[in-house]
Amino acid sequence: MADEMMLEIVTPEKMAFNGKVEEVTVPGSEGEFGVLRGHAPLLAGVDIGELHYTQENKRTYYAISTGYAEVTPVKVTILVETAERADLIDKERAQRAKDRAEERIAKMDKEDVEFEKVHTSLQRAITRISVADKK
Ligand code: ATP
Repeated sequence: MADEMMLEIVTPEKMAFNGKVEEVTVPGSEGEFGVLRGHAPLLAGVDIGELHYTQENKRTYYAISTGYAEVTPVKVTILVETAERADLIDKERAQRAKDRAEERIAKMDKEDVEFEKVHTSLQRAITRISVADKK
């Protein structure tokens, strides 16, 4: 189809996705943004959050963490630390990670050097739990 573009979702571990899509919505660090074929070139930061793309009017959801998105008129490349498709998320594992992070945060003050790190793992867990329900 003429209005398709390439999407690659790459992590240090693997190529999480590589294929043609009609639309992709990315959790940009300055806000969520959608991309269609023909988009102006763009380099953007990516935050922990939900990414989804559309193929033949069907949406597929991923939980992703921080990195970068490179957009050209014909291709979107997502380079992130982690990426899991909704149906491959272990929701119980994410729930355990969330409980662990919340317990640690409850005992910490904001000046703690680990605060940022634990807060970030809490964000990853919350995102995974939410995206797991969208399979
Ligand atoms: P945990 O404490 O459960 O390991 P984490 O947030 O520390 O969670 P990450 O460091 O973000 O885990 O990811 C490590 C690897 O495990 C990555 O490959 C990531 O895709 C995968 N992963 C993490 N949590 C899940 C999950 N709930 N379901 C499926 N894969 C997961």
